[in-house]
Amino acid sequence: MKERIGFIGVGVMGKPMALNLMKAEHPLTVFDLNPNPLKELQARGAAIAHSSKEVSSQAQVVITMLPNSGDVEKVILKENGVMEGLKSNSIVIDMSTIDPSVSRSIAKTLAGKNMKMLDAPVSGGQKGAEDGTLTIMVGGDKDVFEKCSPLFKAMGQNIFYCGPNGTGEIVKIVNNLLAATNRAVSAEGLALGVKAGADFKVLYDVICTSTGQSRSLQFTSAAKPFKGDYEPGFAAELMHKDLGLAMNLAKEEKVPVPLGAISHQIYNHLLASGLGKKDTGIVFKVYEDLLRVKLRF
Ligand code: NAD
Repeated sequence: MKERIGFIGVGVMGKPMALNLMKAEHPLTVFDLNPNPLKELQARGAAIAHSSKEVSSQAQVVITMLPNSGDVEKVILKENGVMEGLKSNSIVIDMSTIDPSVSRSIAKTLAGKNMKMLDAPVSGGQKGAEDGTLTIMVGGDKDVFEKCSPLFKAMGQNIFYCGPNGTGEIVKIVNNLLAATNRAVSAEGLALGVKAGADFKVLYDVICTSTGQSRSLQFTSAAKPFKGDYEPGFAAELMHKDLGLAMNLAKEEKVPVPLGAISHQIYNHLLASGLGKKDTGIVFKVYEDLLRVKLRF
């Protein structure tokens, strides 16, 4: 029997990641504020806990996959949280995308109690989580990373050790700054081309074999918005959060990021329009509606 793993936050990403750990024969104890995915995981053999503390009292390794920095801080450090139930020498792996400085600060608090932490955010979206093909970027002590490597391999395909605590988050935030900006400029460019008379599919095919290509356009946008599907996926409000993290990081480091700042404003627009819960691909629909064009296969 492999060691029991705790998993907190079984939403769009966490649930399929948890299922992949179970496929790799890890017994699992799970917790989420939403009872629906818990029922599904219980039916597949997971044990259900009623608090984060209860999860950590049953496992030496606890994984968190939560929306934002505040959620991770609360779940790990606050009352009835992971730290209260965790034994000495246990490991917390936070796979959420959060502020690197918050991640480092939680790691420091845990280290004071003789507990280790890795930041291990992911890329690859819901499909990558389901297929077990995520890219995982890990910050923390290298020996802890190596010890946890079989868990990462159960959930992902491209596993990178990035350096000390917080560096996994830094790499992820830079990736999403690029992904968000690629998305926004793809919507702008495709809408311009179709409005001016180009065929959408011809534009898409040419760009996907030319220098304007991006993974975000070729795969992520093709999978959802170009088929008229705006259900997350990756919610626009989460991408907005990641752009905010990039802006904070740039401010801390005193680095100019003007294109990222414009992209952040575009996602502000999406949230102000009440579209935050829709998939990030909703940015294409905003241009469709503005210009009365169709960006669809
Ligand atoms: P989600 O909102 O679908 O899932 C988050 C889950 O956490 C929810 O089920 C929610 O009920 C639970 N939760 C929130 N607060 C909690 C608490 N206090 N205690 C217990 N459970 C709590 O989000 P997601 O799309 O799975 O994203 C999770 C993280 O992964 C985010 O940081 C996101 O930026 C990142 N991410 C998402 C994607 C994607 O494509 N969706 C891709 C890469 C990275």
